[in-house]
Amino acid sequence: MNPDPLTQSLLDWLGTRLEPNLDALRRLVERNSFTANAAGIDEQGRMTADLFADLGFRAEFVPSEHPGYGHHLFLSRRGRIPGPPLVLVSHLDTVYPPEEEQAQNFRWEPAPNEGRIYGPGTVDIKGGTTLLLLTLEGLRQFAPEIFLSHSWLIALDASEETLSQDFAQRTSERCPHGAQAVLVFEGGPVINDAWQIVDARKGRERFRLCARGRAAHAGSAHADGVNAIVSLAEAVQKAARLTDPASELTVNVGCIRGGTVVNRVPHEAEAELEVRAYDPTLLDRTAAALRELERDLIPPHQAEIRVSSLGRSPAWPASPANAALAAHWTEAAKSLHLQLVPGPRGGLSDANYLCHLGPTLDGLGPSGGNAHCSERSADRLKLPEYVEPGTFIPKAAINILALIRFLG
Ligand SMILES: [Zn+2]
Repeated sequence: MNPDPLTQSLLDWLGTRLEPNLDALRRLVERNSFTANAAGIDEQGRMTADLFADLGFRAEFVPSEHPGYGHHLFLSRRGRIPGPPLVLVSHLDTVYPPEEEQAQNFRWEPAPNEGRIYGPGTVDIKGGTTLLLLTLEGLRQFAPEIFLSHSWLIALDASEETLSQDFAQRTSERCPHGAQAVLVFEGGPVINDAWQIVDARKGRERFRLCARGRAAHAGSAHADGVNAIVSLAEAVQKAARLTDPASELTVNVGCIRGGTVVNRVPHEAEAELEVRAYDPTLLDRTAAALRELERDLIPPHQAEIRVSSLGRSPAWPASPANAALAAHWTEAAKSLHLQLVPGPRGGLSDANYLCHLGPTLDGLGPSGGNAHCSERSADRLKLPEYVEPGTFIPKAAINILALIRFLG
């Protein structure tokens, strides 16, 4: 079945824009923008601002709270009708230091036979940024009244990969009345012909468990000691057992250290863990259960356990408003004879920090894989990050038709 003539003309027009769009992506990928490379981030910001200037977006560079990082970038376009903006989210940074790109010879590398382009940030998230550009260009071309009527705020985080929270604060300050929608352009994989987008993400809280026992000579006074490692080991077992697959709650003990030398009863040990869940009340309940560990192990025969939170990233839970927004994307895909599947994802993104502004969707960027990987081995068991350029036109068309349904 062919799409209707209007949709076909949209696909044809997007086809003429693919080449320049991939060229813009190449230029962004060729410039290193590791989070800690502040000059690289700022150059990435200027290049990105130039890409959107023709669409009438005004650029604002906002310093990061973190002294070593580059500027966040906000691109805004005021619409004819008053009202809160649509917030379109991407980021400027990648996880690859320049030395790593050099050492791995990891760079822009089209592999047409594989339908892939390898390179740092190709899917996470520079391909998302240029796909957003393609989406807005197509919207201006095919639904100019919608493009011109609504206000748009493109928010580009300088330090998404470190999950620093000042970007969300700066974005929220620019949306005093919330957002019509928050649309995040992280990669959206195509698996078995199903186009995956994200409608919920787990929240996360990190904790430190500290055990304080009593040191003693392991040979002559072993009984006088209180072994912090042994007590902590008991505590982490209890913590790990709070994991509940049925409610998609995980407790992951991620690191542990303790003691100094083997002829002492160790008096200190500590572990760090993280809790993840979609449901914010589950995060609260698990935090309370972890604090109970302080009461479970009683000195003097066991070490004293102290549980402290190292910070929480809020959950982005599923909601009827998100589902209603996602339905526009599902229907838009259907009109292109594509199957699109909204679903939850365990990892964090800027959506966790911005979903309070309005209904939110993520995964609106192109399909790709191996994000955060730079290695390549001869047996191809290790392959670096890539994007699938064949997904740009269909995904931009889905985004455009969905925006027309949502805003029209
Ligand atoms: Zn990433």
